[in-house]
Amino acid sequence: MTEADTTPGSQSALRQANERRVVDVLRRDGTRTQAELARATGLSAASVSNIVRGLRAAGTVAVRDTSSNGRRARAVSLLRPPGTVVAVDFAPGHVRVALGDSAGTMLSRESIAYDAAADAERAVRRAAWLAETLLLAARIDLGTVSSVVASVPAPLDPDTGEVGEISGLPRWTGFRPAQALEERLGVPVRVENDANLAVLAERESGAAQGADHIIHLVLGEGVGAGVVVSGELFRGAGGTAGEVGHIGLDPRGQVCRCGNRGCLETFVGSSYLLGMLPPHAGPLHGPGPVGVADLVDAALAGDPGCRRIIDEAGTALGQGAAIMANLFNPDRVVVGGELARADALLMVPMRRAMEMGALGSALRRLTLARSALGDQAILRGALRTAARLAG
Ligand SMILES: [Zn+2]
Repeated sequence: MTEADTTPGSQSALRQANERRVVDVLRRDGTRTQAELARATGLSAASVSNIVRGLRAAGTVAVRDTSSNGRRARAVSLLRPPGTVVAVDFAPGHVRVALGDSAGTMLSRESIAYDAAADAERAVRRAAWLAETLLLAARIDLGTVSSVVASVPAPLDPDTGEVGEISGLPRWTGFRPAQALEERLGVPVRVENDANLAVLAERESGAAQGADHIIHLVLGEGVGAGVVVSGELFRGAGGTAGEVGHIGLDPRGQVCRCGNRGCLETFVGSSYLLGMLPPHAGPLHGPGPVGVADLVDAALAGDPGCRRIIDEAGTALGQGAAIMANLFNPDRVVVGGELARADALLMVPMRRAMEMGALGSALRRLTLARSALGDQAILRGALRTAARLAG
């Protein structure tokens, strides 16, 4: 999908704006006659009639004959209850948007390849454009959207909504994405950490169903964790709970971007893994830059170097997870992200390292599982959260 395809021209943009004025009046005042709508919006009777015809065809309004002051009139009522929710996912490689109904069930979604990390303001503009495009395609007026939840791979200050320092979006530090999106869309926006949204989705309909004490590890450029304790999301005092990528594993290891050495991230983060590739790794010599997906494919195809890299990542992940297990005594540990696709190549050494590093009693009730929702988890979690906020 390209931006130019669906950018509304001035005619359709004007029509959208007029439709919105009509829907706004119906939301605020309830059922109105066409004459009343014309008075309330300042549009001509012919324009209102035209707009109502379009809204009726789209299933947004119902029209019935009635009388007003003894004259025949047409009464217009809003049919689709205001309650559409929107999810936005910002990541270093993409901006994604999904629409959901008032229960948070996904209606449609779209993704654009875009480096959200490069520029926060521009990423917000892209996301707003993508949301408006999806709404336009679904013939849903922005005025009927009740709530928006956006995801960032970063810790967020619970008081100010500012993006924290060490994150997957380093240039967003101090930026307030909720405020910026709200100014663009005119709808209440809540921003949440990506792993927090993913763990909510996995608990509701994925690999963490039935569990009350969950650690969901999200592997990417860094390692994030969504932590659920006694059925509740655990954010910590300043919103940085779950930044497990900076658990120190080796004081003589590589220097991490946080300033410490040998953090978990330096063993499993995408860039570190790709940096370990041998110079002549056969199966990886395709066109375009090599990514973790290629590493996993090559390992699954039997490449010994790639297998070794993933095996060691699994061991480090297990050492980190063992520390978390001793702390939280979870009943479910879920592993998500591209690397999780390596399945047993990652999970077997991970389990072994957990058994070596954690108390037996900390693991007794624990199930280790791969994410069931994959890259859908964040958007699904965001839609459900938006629906709850609206409800
Ligand atoms: Zn670190």
